[in-house]
Amino acid sequence: KERSEQSAKQLTKAILNGNRKALFKAITLIESNAQHHQERAQEMLQPLLAYAGRSIRIGITGVPGAGKSTFIEAFGKLLCDQGYRVAVLAVDPSSTVNGGSILGDKTRMEELAKHENAFIRPSPSSGTLGGVHKKTRETIIACEAAGFDLIIIETVGIGQSESVVRGMVDFFLMLVLTGAGDELQGMKKGVLELVDAIAVNKADGDNLKLAIKTRREYAQILHLLRPATIGWETKAVTCSSLTGDGIESIWSMIQNFTELGKTSSVFYDRRNAQVSEWLHAMIKDRLELSFYQHEKVGEIRNSIEADVIQGKLTVTKATDQLFRAYQDNKK
Ligand code: GDP
Repeated sequence: KERSEQSAKQLTKAILNGNRKALFKAITLIESNAQHHQERAQEMLQPLLAYAGRSIRIGITGVPGAGKSTFIEAFGKLLCDQGYRVAVLAVDPSSTVNGGSILGDKTRMEELAKHENAFIRPSPSSGTLGGVHKKTRETIIACEAAGFDLIIIETVGIGQSESVVRGMVDFFLMLVLTGAGDELQGMKKGVLELVDAIAVNKADGDNLKLAIKTRREYAQILHLLRPATIGWETKAVTCSSLTGDGIESIWSMIQNFTELGKTSSVFYDRRNAQVSEWLHAMIKDRLELSFYQHEKVGEIRNSIEADVIQGKLTVTKATDQLFRAYQDNKK
């Protein structure tokens, strides 16, 4: 069975040739938890690194119903028509319901999916942070090596997922709906400090006037907050993913943002910081796993924890004891 599978080298080559099927396969490998898949994924990724990093990475968040998929379809089509190659790492909401199938949601971004310049990869939203996977960063590398100019990372706004996405994108856009008054009450200000722009979507028909008002309310609030990106004032705009109004100017805004950031080097500084953070987060994860899987630690953990709860042992001493066990008896 192994022999019939593509070797890592073949996959690497196919990806560099922009082969879509290979890219799909690569992402499946990247996301797999099986050890031998992981090894193959790493072997494939290492040579791809040299070809990565040339895209603009765009995060898009918003509550369900905000119009994310409609927006991405309109935005993606605009760019694909201009000759850009666009990869979308989308959330597959259907998978939450039927427990993790990756069949994909046929009704989302159907038009864009047909475009020869587009690549859409739905990921189940279950078991991930609002659709963002621990391995999403590696998927970005594979997509870039396959020649995509823009990588769009969709996430369902659920608080924690936004800061994760912020850690992997250059530009972060939040789609909101009218009625900001209510929404803003419940919305954590922190999220507003993570994004580079807020687009009040569905600014069309009867909703247009309210959307314009909502935009102004957001602009006023943004004024009081700290911008997410040095040298960039977080923008509030309106758009309609249905009519296409405002979509082009969002693209101009993103281009402007990247140009400014590249000139001042804020763009590159952020990317460097993101890679460092990624490394340290991974080390932290590994250490934690190794600690809790450690046999000796496992043996004494419960009783030490019970002592702490019962007030017999200080937390610092308990930690000392557990660490001694961890370091003494490395498996
Ligand atoms: P998501 O859950 O954030 O991906 O939202 P969807 O893209 O599925 O959109 C939710 C609903 O809003 C759908 O019925 C869309 O047709 C509608 N919708 C999305 N964008 C617009 C827009 O700009 N104007 C109007 N009128 N409806 C929109």
